[in-house]
Parts: sequence; C-alpha cells; structure tokens
Amino acid sequence: MNKIVVKFGGSNLKDEQGITWITQRVKEYNSPLIIVVSAFFGITNFLTDGIEKVLQNSEEIQAILSRIRNKKHKTIDYFIQENEDNLKVKALLDIRLGELEKFLKGINYIGDIPDFISDKVLSYGERLSSLLLTQILQSMGIEAQEALPEDIGFYTDGEHGNATIDFEISTPLVRESLKEDKVYIIPGFYGMSQSNKVTLLGRGGSDYSAAGLAKMMGAPSLDIWKDVSGYRTADPKIVPSSLGIAELSYQEAAELSYFGAKILHPRTVEPLLETSIPIRIFNIEEEGLSPKSQITDHRIINDRVIKSVTYSNDFAILRLEGPGVGVKHGILADVTGLLNDNKINIKSVVTSQTVINIYLESGDLDQALEILGKLKNSAITKITGEDKQTLVAVVGHGIKDKPGIAMTMIAALSDQNINIKNIALGASDVASYLVIDNEDKINAVKAIHEAFFTQR
Ligand code: ASP
Ligand code: MG
Repeated sequence: MNKIVVKFGGSNLKDEQGITWITQRVKEYNSPLIIVVSAFFGITNFLTDGIEKVLQNSEEIQAILSRIRNKKHKTIDYFIQENEDNLKVKALLDIRLGELEKFLKGINYIGDIPDFISDKVLSYGERLSSLLLTQILQSMGIEAQEALPEDIGFYTDGEHGNATIDFEISTPLVRESLKEDKVYIIPGFYGMSQSNKVTLLGRGGSDYSAAGLAKMMGAPSLDIWKDVSGYRTADPKIVPSSLGIAELSYQEAAELSYFGAKILHPRTVEPLLETSIPIRIFNIEEEGLSPKSQITDHRIINDRVIKSVTYSNDFAILRLEGPGVGVKHGILADVTGLLNDNKINIKSVVTSQTVINIYLESGDLDQALEILGKLKNSAITKITGEDKQTLVAVVGHGIKDKPGIAMTMIAALSDQNINIKNIALGASDVASYLVIDNEDKINAVKAIHEAFFTQR
C-alpha cells in the first residue's frame, strides 16, 4: 500500500498543544506515512528579518541562535523528559544550529546575502521542525526517520526563491529513498538545484512540497492539516454563518487560493492536476481522521453554481494612460517585458482605448512605477498607481454558463452603495471577480455571500 502524504503547517507547529495534536493524529493513522512539515509558526519571518540584521551587526548572530535554541529547548523539555534522550536531542539541535551559525557568519563576513545563501538559511525553519518532530515521534515509540530533500533526490529547476519541482529527475530517486515501511519526516519549502544548492519553493511553499511528494509517490491522498475547518462558503471571520464545503475540484481550489482563501498555497494543486490524488483538508483539533473538505478531479456543478466567495486585499492597480493605448501594438509587450525582467508578477490586465490597467500585488507597486517611469514609449503619456484595492471573487464550475451571476454580485454591492471599480467575467469557467476599495471589503463579502447563499 502506498503511503499517504501528510502535511502539518506552521499553524499546527505553534505550541505544545499543537504538537501534541500532531502526535495524536500520527498515531491515529497507525500506518507508515510521509510527513511534510513547515517551519514553526513565525520562524521563517524571524529568519528573513534576522539575515538583514546579521548583515549589519555580528552580535545579532548569537541573539538569533539563542532565541531559537531557547524555544526549542522548551519544546524538547516538554516532550522528552528522559534525561539521556533529552540531552541527545539537544545535542542534535546544536549540530543543526551550528550549521546555521556558519551561514550567518558567512553573510556577516562577506557583507552580502547571495540568493543561494538566503535560501539555505531560510530552509532552517523547516529543518528544525523535521528534526524535532522526528525525535518526538521516536520518543513515543514510532518508527520515524527524518529525510532531507538533499538526501532523497528532491530536485527543482534551480530558481532561487521560487523554484519549480523537477519531477522527471526526482520521482525515481525519491521513490527509492522513501520505500521502507516507516514514518518519514521531510522538511517542506525547498528542494535542490542540480548543482546541489537549496532552492526555496516560494513563501508558503511546503504545501507545494507535499503535493509534489504525493505525485512522486502515487499517494492514495494528500492530507493537509490546518487549524481551521477547511474550505467554506466565505471566511468565517467575516461571515460567521458561512457553511463548510465538503467537496471541490482542483480548479476551484486553485482559484480560491489565487483569490485569497488562505487554506492552501496556490501551487498545491499544480502537481496533482493530471493525477486523481485527492487533497483532504482536516482540522487538527478534531479526532477521527474525517476530512472537512476534499479536493478531487470531479467537477461538481450544483444549482447555485457558486461554491465560495473570497477576497484578497493585496492588490494595486497600475494605470498607463495615453490617447491611443487601445489601438497601438507593442505597448503591452514593452510593459510586461519590463515587469517580467524585474520578476514582478502581473495578476490581471484590463485595457480600454485610453487606459491600460495592470493589477499587481501591493508590495510590487512602487518598484513597478519606478521601472516603468524609465520606459520610453511615446504612446504612454501618464503612469499612475493606486494601492489598497480588494478583489472579491466568486468561484464555482459553470459560472460562464449560468445567467445572472454578474447581476447578483453587482446588485448586492449596489444595494450597499459600494463602488465597483472593475469587473472581470469569463476569464475562466471557474471564477469571476470584481475590484473595490479595501475599505468596502467586509461589507462586500457579506453582501455577496448573502445574495448567493441566504436569499434562495
Ligand atoms: N515556512 C515557509 C513560509 O513561511 C513555508 C511554509 O510555511 O509553507 O513561507
Ligand atoms: Mg505555511
């Protein structure tokens, strides 16, 4: 029987309670598993800030290491009381922190943070999780073994910070490495370039690691444990009466992630699209291995069509104006080429005769304005940016074929006097969205949810 791939994230690795739940769930499976872990909650951000500090000041190195060491000692003392084992695990921790120390010292010494070193340092969040969880499970009598990506042949295309998994090379190597009947614990978030450098899979990327492993191993399922109850018809913090969604398709889950639902990393479904491996989402607080949502290759179209309303408030609009931008050729190619050269991701483009609107992530707006300020294209007379935009999306198969969806959304917002700045329908069969100011987002999500889910 192939092993299930199980992912525990930073929200499960927050405190002793979370780790206790993890160990209980692992026991409930009562079978060999492939477990992928994220960093403990907040560690990746802590390391990201840390390397900048270390660059300036060598004293930060010990401050960072002792802060991590103290936290991990607390966890070790809680779970592993037997003196000899406790000391053994602390010694293993010291070895790992010793490696991290060398890289931090290197950064300080050369006064620079090359991409490959930054990727290596940030991977320590996950490496510490896999080390600790392996030891904790072993101390409970479970046959657990840590398996690092560099030791199992988990390769990528080599792009630092945002790599893509190379299945062709990795699959046979990983299968061979993980073939025994035990519980393997793998740090997520990175794989190796062909020149054996650590390459990160993008922020939040351990879901993608886990999906990649599920595909390589032909797993019966990819089980992702969260501290929330799976996919819902809307964010329960905004709509407390929102309902759970028992089943959705790979495409629906991908669109929901893209448009802001924080359940899965947007790339999670990518490796699984050509498989029929289900993704099962569980709530760590609940016993009994019963999934809250399942993501499969079935397209289910129900009467309502819409399965969920989601939002992302992380958008900015870049406006390129000129009397004839809509009819002149080559403008978009110039603009998108420049943005691409600077690794700025475009989320959406809407053009008219006189304005090209490009949607970006908020964090990229200033850099985009600066780069395009240097663009020499006589057709563009003015470039402006507007930050703090929210995109509200409705997601569900069949959107394109069902009349009245746009009207329902627009009517719901106009009843609330919310100004719609843009609307996009039909870009895919699965999602439609509109753009509003951030300040309207809560009312907008409530109103649209009510229109689709309550008033019928
Ligand atoms: N620890 C990494 C991050 O915070 C990866 C992950 O959590 O999935 O981005
Ligand atoms: Mg995460």
